[in-house]
Amino acid sequence: MNNRDDFSDKTKRAVAARAGWQCSFQGCSKLTVGPSEEAPSAITNIGEAAHICAASPGGRRYEPAMTPAERASIDNAMWVCTDHAKLIDRDAVTYPADRLRAMKRAHEERCARAVRLGSSSGLSTGLLAIGPDIVCTADLISVSAGTWTLRLEHFLIGDMHAIMDYIDGFQRQPPEVRYVLSNELGDGRVLLAPPGLTNGPEGAILLCEVAPSADRIDAQRLGSDMALHPETNDFYLDEKGGIARVSGLAYLPQKIRTVLSTQRGESVFWPTLGMRFSEYYEAFRGSPWLNLLLKLDVVRQASVPRRDSLTGTRQTPLRCVKRVRGFELLAAEPQANKLPVRIEFEIQGVGAWQNEFSIYMPTAAEMAERGKMIADAPWLSVERAIDYCAQKGNGDFAANIFKP
Ligand SMILES: [Zn+2]
Repeated sequence: MNNRDDFSDKTKRAVAARAGWQCSFQGCSKLTVGPSEEAPSAITNIGEAAHICAASPGGRRYEPAMTPAERASIDNAMWVCTDHAKLIDRDAVTYPADRLRAMKRAHEERCARAVRLGSSSGLSTGLLAIGPDIVCTADLISVSAGTWTLRLEHFLIGDMHAIMDYIDGFQRQPPEVRYVLSNELGDGRVLLAPPGLTNGPEGAILLCEVAPSADRIDAQRLGSDMALHPETNDFYLDEKGGIARVSGLAYLPQKIRTVLSTQRGESVFWPTLGMRFSEYYEAFRGSPWLNLLLKLDVVRQASVPRRDSLTGTRQTPLRCVKRVRGFELLAAEPQANKLPVRIEFEIQGVGAWQNEFSIYMPTAAEMAERGKMIADAPWLSVERAIDYCAQKGNGDFAANIFKP
């Protein structure tokens, strides 16, 4: 039996991105993955996620008091070149855990500065998402009404294999995950066909055939809802003693906050619905990538329509948001499940508009508990109920009930 607490691929990608894909060993900074080396024909990688405290008993700096989850967590990982991985693996006396952690911290801080200042090429380019499992830094080579052409650089989530899998499986994917998003543009598009991947002297080029921009509605036509109190997040009475309501532009902040405060995996009924803030926060907290990833996720909710099974209509969750112009985290971490952010939008019928939001963020432990509850009760989810009925040959019945 394997008793090593290895890192997941996701953790390895994240620790590499946090280190700017450079060796974190003091004084090395060797670039471990180059754009051309990430080409599908020859994937070479001279970097690895090394364990600060060993993955199994007998390894260097093994710490029996740690839990398996702590040993496999990103906090116990350090991105180094293969030479330095060997060096620190041999010598726990010269390189105790504290010294390695200090090196990691110093290197990540340097990278954070480089990302913020845009001083390091490759780190300063925009982020792109292609479907739900791929996020990379990339250059937009050209953007036209029907085509986006991109040059891929480094991967934060997924890798070149994940792109090839996505292309191969594209026709089997639900429409909700056929998209490309750009942080720089603050906008995204639905993909009409599997993206084309070519490999030239310039690196990996992705050609995306895209749908026209999604339909948005004027903020004035948002409708109305019962008002939620900004602090208690609960209904309250207006001055006449009735339940307070908000509509139109006044409803906009509440609408946006509600969408951004639903984390994916948290809704019992719609497991794929919601933001990925909690997930990104876990892997990228304390790094400047976090801000960019969160923005990209808001772009998704502003530009990719989702089918509403109850009404049968397709619309973007943020309804009247045309573009996400800016996103800023106002605190490094959530306090009492609240993450304060400032977002600048372009709103249909309004133009530039910005606001501060206090976004609900469950802790990792709360998310895990929620996930377990949902996994234990498949009947709780409408999406699973439809799948279940389809498997039993009652797909039409389910479709009639859930998709009027
Ligand atoms: Zn090195």
